[in-house]
Amino acid sequence: MSTVLGLLNNTIAFSSVDGPGNRFVVFLQGCNFNCVTCHNPYTITRCTDCGLCVGPCPEHALSIEDGPLIVLDTGACTLCDVCIEVCPEDSTPLARVVTVRDLIEEIRAVAPFISGITVSGGEATQQPEFVADLFSTLKADPHLAHLTTFVDSNGAAPVEVWKRLADVMDGAMVDLKALDPATHLRLTARENDQVLASIEYLAQHDLLYEVRLLIVPGYNDDTQTVLRTAEWLSSVDPSMRIKLIGYRAHGVRPEALHIPEATGELLEHLETILREHGFDQIAVT
Ligand code: SF4
Ligand code: SF4
Repeated sequence: MSTVLGLLNNTIAFSSVDGPGNRFVVFLQGCNFNCVTCHNPYTITRCTDCGLCVGPCPEHALSIEDGPLIVLDTGACTLCDVCIEVCPEDSTPLARVVTVRDLIEEIRAVAPFISGITVSGGEATQQPEFVADLFSTLKADPHLAHLTTFVDSNGAAPVEVWKRLADVMDGAMVDLKALDPATHLRLTARENDQVLASIEYLAQHDLLYEVRLLIVPGYNDDTQTVLRTAEWLSSVDPSMRIKLIGYRAHGVRPEALHIPEATGELLEHLETILREHGFDQIAVT
């Protein structure tokens, strides 16, 4: 069994929105993007053990030990999220170090009721060895090998990471936040060259389950932008599955609250553009 450790934010035993079927979802801690519209900003950064959340915890569930190292008393924690609200680093003291064995036992308990595993984040590909070991352990277990293995990614991973995962991963869902490099930089604080290369590589190797387009009014919602995006996606794979996601303010940082939410009319218009480019597997949320 693998000795690689993972930094875990959370797990969900059952999800119907993180890939095909009913899925066990692993949310890893840490992301290489800093998206304006992030719905889970407390998953972005690894805790620096600064100790600032210890005092505000109403349940005295946190302490700081020599190191310094933040320590959580899970029995006392009520998941009130006060520590997340006061953290200046977009992190959480609730993230925990886990082994593949820990997760395998959680998955085994629900295996009869799920169709697969999705590793999300944060950004799953920031911990590629852990993901590869988790997936290969699942594939090698006769009672779990039927579960499909998916990654939910922002796409900003070197091709070497996808090559490492290719033999044990059944598919990837990849965000394309913006085709235009400057807009991508504004939305995520990162270039999009690796994202585009990832989409191409995964499509070429039949590992691209879905591309997700988050529509953020004022950033990437105009007709010309979506036309160019549709043309590029069509040049990669005209039969690809696309999920069109309208921006919602739920869970975002205060700086993003001024951004208008995507309307149903807008999403319908953009879906029409995609269909006119030949895409017929489009989900809209
Ligand atoms: S969620 Fe954070 S602040 Fe709330 S009880 Fe748990 S450790 Fe304390
Ligand atoms: S969770 Fe945030 S506030 Fe708490 S110790 Fe870590 S970095 Fe500091």
